[in-house]
Amino acid sequence: MWLILAMMEKNMLRYFYFLVISVCTLSFAGCGIKNTPPGEDSVTKELFAMDTYMSLTAYGDNAGEAVREAEDKIHELDRMLSAGNEKSEVSILNREGISTFSDDSINILKKSLEINAMTDGAFNPAIYPVMELWGFASGNYRVPGTDEINDVLAHTDVSCINISGSDVTVSDGTKVDFGGIAKGYTSSVIMRIFEQCGVTSGIVNLGGNVQTLGEKPDGSLWRTAIRHPVDDGYIGVVNVQDKAVITSGGYERYFEEDGKRYHHIIDPSTGAPSESGLLSVTVISSDGTLADGLSTALFVMGSDGAEGFWREHSEEFDFIIMDGQGKIKVSEGVSGVFESEYDYEVVKR
Ligand code: AMP
Ligand code: MG
Repeated sequence: MWLILAMMEKNMLRYFYFLVISVCTLSFAGCGIKNTPPGEDSVTKELFAMDTYMSLTAYGDNAGEAVREAEDKIHELDRMLSAGNEKSEVSILNREGISTFSDDSINILKKSLEINAMTDGAFNPAIYPVMELWGFASGNYRVPGTDEINDVLAHTDVSCINISGSDVTVSDGTKVDFGGIAKGYTSSVIMRIFEQCGVTSGIVNLGGNVQTLGEKPDGSLWRTAIRHPVDDGYIGVVNVQDKAVITSGGYERYFEEDGKRYHHIIDPSTGAPSESGLLSVTVISSDGTLADGLSTALFVMGSDGAEGFWREHSEEFDFIIMDGQGKIKVSEGVSGVFESEYDYEVVKR
């Protein structure tokens, strides 16, 4: 019988993470970093949605309206996209094999399929049967046998997903999971809402995934800290404007059994938690949806795979990765705006 030795207290850890990230993206007092603190011309809203703590800050005249609209949109997307909410469009699809998707769900599905193709399947929006098998969907974690894994892998083929207008169907037991991309899509949508409200400067932090609009009000770059996957503290800080900074790490969600840790980022080729050797992958891109999909995909690809993939797509994103030996690699496009107390290698085009 498998013995579950330890399970992370998910919400406690996330709350801690939220507090730390809030300090480090908004006020930075604890890490000797200075971002403009919210003042009279800014509005900040903190909330819990999509199973994580979030913080939204907008600056300028229409900041209040922008943040209110963004909050409404987050709750709307949460209701639509969560595979764990039985009324969501995704849950209906997974249960009934057919669902009418709203524009946002169609957008995120199409983008997921594009990223699946560009990453050669490393990002797989049809991974949900595997998430269920390992208990990540229910919280009843367990290590499945090889036969069980092979059985469910047969139901993770994206070609079983069909889109016809707003109608989506899945066949052959395929089930969809937007957990690897929903927050990046959401932060992208919030940036558009901020812009439509006339806001030119803002930052959102969705459980450690950050997206920024414009520069800080004082004209400087946003300083975004990247959490160290093992130790307290940070890998470093990346200074950005108009960019998403999105991180995937096994430490975000995992269980332990017989002394071994099993995390939530699945290698679609094995149906098991990825053992690529990477502990943390941060993707920096002006496209938040792409950044989120790629953070998951690069984690699966591993260090060499991520480097090779970046060379083919270096116009679209940059990365900061850390492996199990503590080696940090930073792609050339962000090396000039990255600060770290650790040694790191700059990956050239
Ligand atoms: P992230 O933190 O963005 O890397 O997303 C991890 C989440 O994405 C997991 O909790 C699953 O819901 C989902 N997921 C896990 N593995 C994959 C994969 N290979 N492709 C797409 N989504 C995945
Ligand atoms: Mg992701």
